[in-house]
Amino acid sequence: MIAPARIDQSWLHSPALQELLALLNSDGGEAKIAGGAVRNSLLGEAIKDVDVATTLIPADVTMRLEEAGHRAIPTGIDHGTVTALIDGETFEVTTLRKDIDTDGRHATVTFGTDWLEDAERRDFTMNALYLEADGTVFDPLGGYGDLMARNVIFIGMAEKRIEEDYLRILRFFRFFAWYGTFRPDAKGLMACTRLKDGLDDLSAERIWQELSRMLAAPDPSRALLWMRQTGVLSKVLPESENWGIDAIHGLVEAEQELGWDADAVLRLMSIIAPMEDKVAGLAERLKLSNKVRDRLIAWAGQESLPKKQSKQEFDAMLYRSNVQAVSDRIRLDCATAIGKNDEKRSTKLAKRLKRIAKWERPELPVRGQDLLDAGMKPGPQIAQTLTRLEEVWIASGFKASREFLLAKV
Ligand code: ATP
Ligand code: MG
Repeated sequence: MIAPARIDQSWLHSPALQELLALLNSDGGEAKIAGGAVRNSLLGEAIKDVDVATTLIPADVTMRLEEAGHRAIPTGIDHGTVTALIDGETFEVTTLRKDIDTDGRHATVTFGTDWLEDAERRDFTMNALYLEADGTVFDPLGGYGDLMARNVIFIGMAEKRIEEDYLRILRFFRFFAWYGTFRPDAKGLMACTRLKDGLDDLSAERIWQELSRMLAAPDPSRALLWMRQTGVLSKVLPESENWGIDAIHGLVEAEQELGWDADAVLRLMSIIAPMEDKVAGLAERLKLSNKVRDRLIAWAGQESLPKKQSKQEFDAMLYRSNVQAVSDRIRLDCATAIGKNDEKRSTKLAKRLKRIAKWERPELPVRGQDLLDAGMKPGPQIAQTLTRLEEVWIASGFKASREFLLAKV
């Protein structure tokens, strides 16, 4: 299928982007928009960030930007990437490359000026499309047809491309999750199955980056299924092995029904067992941030809501708990209930989530100083009394006043 000659979309008219392309497309330089922005525009989907490819070397890119009064941040100079900052907008500008040596994890690259070579070192045909400043489409490898058919196809021989960089196995499933349909390309699947052991040598950061992006797709369930089928999932997420990935369906359904944002961490929770030691091991292996690790561990230790619980009991529980963990637990239980068509339970849990959204942690109206002012002597008794008053206050549904509580001292 032949790509349209030209597209016109509002984001292309950004004065900052047009200025950048004009700066690079002069005096012997060439630049085109590349990567995700081109792919998503052709699909009619929202674009995230705009990447620009250029024949100019990073030092020239930097010089041209600075001479025009803009900032150039050396984000990945080794890879030839400079971030251009123009009128508050940022663009990643990467010099055309060709790989001269690849060992499956790192590539030694050399800068080039050949657009076809640049296209051929990219991963999938749908990711090797370019746009000129005026919206003219450049499709050197015929990726447009694959894109329209929603086929994620390796450029060149799948096995060879994976051996150059094993991360491409996970990228295959990530792009399938976002843009694929029906079933993944058979040759790609076979290559991933055969070469999955190469995933063992990838850095944890790169694995989690791809995995979390895959999990953030509108509906990652089919990609997960194929990842399990090929044994790739067990490689990167052995915690999902004895648990199963079926809960993801209920979660995606709940998100759509109740308007929750796609949350990669919540989706991860839905496919692993809530066991603190396992979750801690996973966080360590994938080098998750402290924030994500703490969230996972708190969730693993959080019980489901009892079948019968009054609003007041619920509020008391919230006060004593990690609210994020309670919310995560309820969301997953609600998703399970939706998956089982248990409307009574899912409605009740959805109400609890609304209550959490409005909830502000109340503050005990009595402080240590109040007890000292009331004549108590400094010492451990102060803390003990505060704890006792706190219990009274919680039991009152956080309604007991300061006067009422102080009168108990
Ligand atoms: P998104 O919109 O999700 O950012 P993207 O296509 O821009 O999607 P990136 O990971 O930002 O994805 O990569 C930008 C482009 O760089 C890709 O479209 C692809 O052409 C190329 N690329 C990135 N990583 C690799 C890789 N490991 N091997 C080959 N090409 C890659
Ligand atoms: Mg991108």
